Amino acid sequence: ARIATTQEELQQQITQATQELRDQKDAAELAASTDSLTGVASRRAFSEAAEAEMQRALRYRSELSLLMMDLDHFKVVNDTHGHVTGDAVLVSFAQTVQQLVRKVDLVARLGGEEFVVLLPNITAEQATALAERIREAVYHSHLLVEGKPLQFSVSIGVAQFDRRELSLTGWMARADAALYQAKAQGRIRVV
Ligand code: GH3
Ligand code: MG
Ligand code: MG
Repeated sequence: ARIATTQEELQQQITQATQELRDQKDAAELAASTDSLTGVASRRAFSEAAEAEMQRALRYRSELSLLMMDLDHFKVVNDTHGHVTGDAVLVSFAQTVQQLVRKVDLVARLGGEEFVVLLPNITAEQATALAERIREAVYHSHLLVEGKPLQFSVSIGVAQFDRRELSLTGWMARADAALYQAKAQGRIRVV
């Protein structure tokens, strides 16, 4: 009887340890796929999703677009109001973008104040229209800092996936080049 009891206890311990390992694995996967500050997808999750969407676009000849977004003069926000407020701006920005996209779109933070949106089944024209709505909404949004409204803005580069170009890097570089132009043309704009 004692042996049977011990065996039962051991089995329970194994079951519990297995569940704990499973929970830890789930938590680690969530941490790797999510940006901890803003809650949007991580760079890694974006890369995986983008590669999969590129394959889908090639197979089904579907449209696919990308928005590359960078907050304007963000260094000034940090220098003037501090890093904590800067972080709050990033969170607010991510929420504004998330509210404007569809469920199938993936918003991700690449790092710092740089974000992307992956847009399946969307042409460059439609993506540009969405980018304009985002630019506008961000421009008219604000954060209250000690009771005073703090305004900020974003510049956005748009690039449609080109089936002749087979690398994510190349596609992102084109979106980046468009973003660079938006900055050079005076910021708060979409190219
Ligand atoms: P531009 O309009 O050309 O994009 O100017 P910018 O000032 O936004 O560009 P720059 O790349 O010079 O500055 C980015 C700043 O973002 C520098 C850094 O202090 C800040 N930053 C990067 N990551 C974070 C973060 O996680 N939190 C906060 N608060 N600031 C960050
Ligand atoms: Mg930047
Ligand atoms: Mg910036």
